[in-house]
Amino acid sequence: IGVTNDEEALAKAAAVNADSEAPTIFDKIIAKEIPSSIVYEDEKVLAFHDVNPQAPVHVLVIPKFRDGLTMLGKAEERHTEILGYLLYAAKIVAEKEGILDGFRVVINNGPGGCQSVYHLHLHVLGGRQMTWPAG
Ligand code: 5GP
Repeated sequence: IGVTNDEEALAKAAAVNADSEAPTIFDKIIAKEIPSSIVYEDEKVLAFHDVNPQAPVHVLVIPKFRDGLTMLGKAEERHTEILGYLLYAAKIVAEKEGILDGFRVVINNGPGGCQSVYHLHLHVLGGRQMTWPAG
């Protein structure tokens, strides 16, 4: 009820590679085998503009070493340092993009969360008035 065909198609697409340990397109972005518009990079994380932005500012922050973190739901205690660092990197991104006053950080988890790339990533969104609840 209330789910359009578009939303169903999106959910199905998101489920295709669900829970896979296979390499993703983000490995190629990290390796610079495919280009991206980089906002911030250091030895631990890479932040780049989303190819299909959902807000004037839409940046993805990813760990360079996935280490089993295909999704937040796979987090283990050994990941706590990188998980914290990803949030700190999101703040650096917000600062660089000039949206520190108002921004949103999102993690989609699994098919039900509409995750489509199985390499943990934070969405940093801003540059417009965000609304709540998120879809
Ligand atoms: P998810 O749906 O898994 O939370 O988010 C994956 C995001 O990756 C989507 O917002 C999608 O637009 C973005 N994305 C997928 N492929 C590429 C790509 O090749 N380059 C960039 N910059 N973003 C991508």
